[in-house]
Order: sequence, then structure tokens, then C-alpha cells
Amino acid sequence: MTIRVWDYLPEYEKERADLLDAVETVFESGNLVLGRSVLGFESEFAAYHDVAHCVTVDNGTNAIKLALQALGVGPGDEVVTVANTAAPTVLAIDAVGAIPVFVDIRPDDYLMDTTQVADVITPATKALLPVHLYGQCVEMAPLQRLAREHGLLVLEDCAQSHGARHAGQLAGTMGDAAAFSFYPTKVLGAYGDGGAVLTGSETVDRDLRQLRYYGMESVYYVVQTPGHNSRLDEVQAEILRRKLRRLDEYIAGRRAVAERYAAGLGDIAEATGLVLPSLADANEHVFYLYVVRHPQRDAVLEQLKRRGITLNISYPWPVHTMTGFSKLGYAAGSLPVTERIADEIFSLPMYPSLPVDVQDTVIGALRDVLTTL
Ligand SMILES: *Cc1c(COP(=O)(O)O)cnc(C)c1O
Repeated sequence: MTIRVWDYLPEYEKERADLLDAVETVFESGNLVLGRSVLGFESEFAAYHDVAHCVTVDNGTNAIKLALQALGVGPGDEVVTVANTAAPTVLAIDAVGAIPVFVDIRPDDYLMDTTQVADVITPATKALLPVHLYGQCVEMAPLQRLAREHGLLVLEDCAQSHGARHAGQLAGTMGDAAAFSFYPTKVLGAYGDGGAVLTGSETVDRDLRQLRYYGMESVYYVVQTPGHNSRLDEVQAEILRRKLRRLDEYIAGRRAVAERYAAGLGDIAEATGLVLPSLADANEHVFYLYVVRHPQRDAVLEQLKRRGITLNISYPWPVHTMTGFSKLGYAAGSLPVTERIADEIFSLPMYPSLPVDVQDTVIGALRDVLTTL
């Protein structure tokens, strides 16, 4: 048996009729770009969050980029975020000419350490960009307070946290805007690329609609402000509409996998040095990833590989240590928690339709490896 950390085929098998019907619906609609499905998904995704506006775009990276632009973040502005994230978070900041400023993460849940944010705020700081990583939310109250005090904008990176809640509030409803990715692996994933921005602001909504459409107000063929071609495809939008109806089911499926892992590994965790995911206070985790930690991570992964199980690391290289971001000037050791956990974390296979026998194989192999290390 080959074990894949992520696989869409079991889901496709189950949902095939509905997904193919989605494709046919678009093909028969007579409108292949910015049609009924995009508009329908936008209003349904906004309604799911009880937020006034949703603007879809072509991927999550551009969702962050266009959201920053629409919020007025540009060249020379500083944006506070974390280095333990997918590189696109930082690429999007860089793409608008702004400067990413990193704070460290918390050692227990690997999320932004919000107590460090005040220390890095300067007159150039324009926005805070918390990343709701792995499926749970950054503590937003301290960020909202700092934003009020210093007149900063808050953009949530929700690429990994569709449906996650903090103190009862959904990810994507706690800032000035929120960016989502619908990359296939995500909690709400398309069958290709996709992204969206949520916002309560009518002007941000209007600017986003222009920015994704060459900078035009669609009917006039006149560029108002130079923009991009960043539209969500109709087919992906219709697939996302169908899948949004099942989002809560997907989340329940992920939680069931997480519970099985915790039940299967909990008793040996402490004795073997395995650290299971910690649930942050007041958070409802959606388990985009099931991230564990072990001081001999590389040896554990090597042993698992010999048993045919190859696991992922999200992420092995913190963004500030990447060659492409050396211009930011972060020396090794500048984000100690981020750097330490990058050497210790790894992810167990996680998707809602992950077969139970595969979960049990992973649990069994990990128990063997850890108890004989
Ligand atoms: C996936 C991801 C992105 C980028 O999304 P794409 O759709 O791949 O462009 C941004 N931020 C985080 C945290 C992500 O996980």
C-alpha cells in the first residue's frame, strides 16, 4: 500500500456525479468567465461567513496580494507576519513592494506570538497579517487592539483555516479583510487553483473587483488603475459552490481523523518525546494539517520511509532563512522558536476521506518507530 499524505481521488469517487454535473452546468450556461457560478459562489461564501462582501480571484497568493493592494498597502510599508508559513504569504507582501517584518511563534501551537508584535511596530508599519496556520486561529484580540491604537490594517491569511473558529468567530471575519486559497489540498479545495477575499468594506470590494479585472470597471474597457488578470474560473467556482455545501462535513471528517491519531498515539507520546497538536484556548481546529513534533524528527521520518510511509514537513525552511528572502536581512537565530520547531515538526496524512486502515497503518508504524528508536 502506498500512503499519500493527501489524495483527492477517494473524494472524487464519492462526489463524482455532483462534480461532473458542476462542470456540465458551466459548459451549458453559455458564460465561461465571471458568470453565474462565480457570482453565486461569492454570495454563498460571504453568507457562510456572514460577511458583506466576497471577491474571488485565481489563487490564494493573489488573494493576499490584491487584498493588500485594495487596503492601500504598497511600496515601503511594513507588514507584520510570521516566518512559519507557506512562502506565498510573504511573496504576496513582497509583490506589492511592502516589507515583511517577522515575529516569532508560540512553541505550543506554532501560531504568531502576538505578545511580540508591539515591539516591531514602527512609523512605517501599515498592516498586521496573522496566518491562521494548520487550521487554527491566531489570537485576534491583541492584534485588533494594536491595530486600533496604531491605526493599522488587519489582513487574515485564512488559506489553511476555512471554517475554523476563535471564541466562536469564524476565521476570515476578524480583520479588515481575509484571504483564502482553494488550492486542492485546502480544507475547501477546488479541482485546480482558486482564491477569495472577504471584507466588510464596500470600497475594498469595489477595488478588488477592479484589480482582478485589469483595473477596469468591467463594462467600460477603461483602466481606472493598473490591475491584473486574476479571475476565478467559472468551472472552479461551480465546483466550490457544490463543495461549500459539504464544508462542515469535511471539517467533521478531519476532526475524526485527528481524534483517531490522538487516541492511537496519546499513550506513548510523553514517554517517546512525541508532541501532538495542542489546541489553543477557545479555538475550534479544522486540522488542515495534523502537525506533530519530535526531537529526532529526521530519524523518525527515515525509519517511516523504510516502511513505505513518506510524510511531509510544513514547513522545513522558515521563510526568513530562504535564499530568496536574504534581502530582508534576518540572521540565523533571529526567530529561535520558528527555527527550532522547523527541525522537529512533521505532518501525518490528513484529508477527510483518509481511509481508516491507512490511519491505523500510520499509527502502528509510528508507534513501532518511536518505541524502538
Ligand atoms: C496555500 C497557502 C497560500 C497560497 O495559496 P495558493 O492558492 O497556493 O496561491 C497562502 N498562505 C498560506 C498559509 C497557504 O497555506
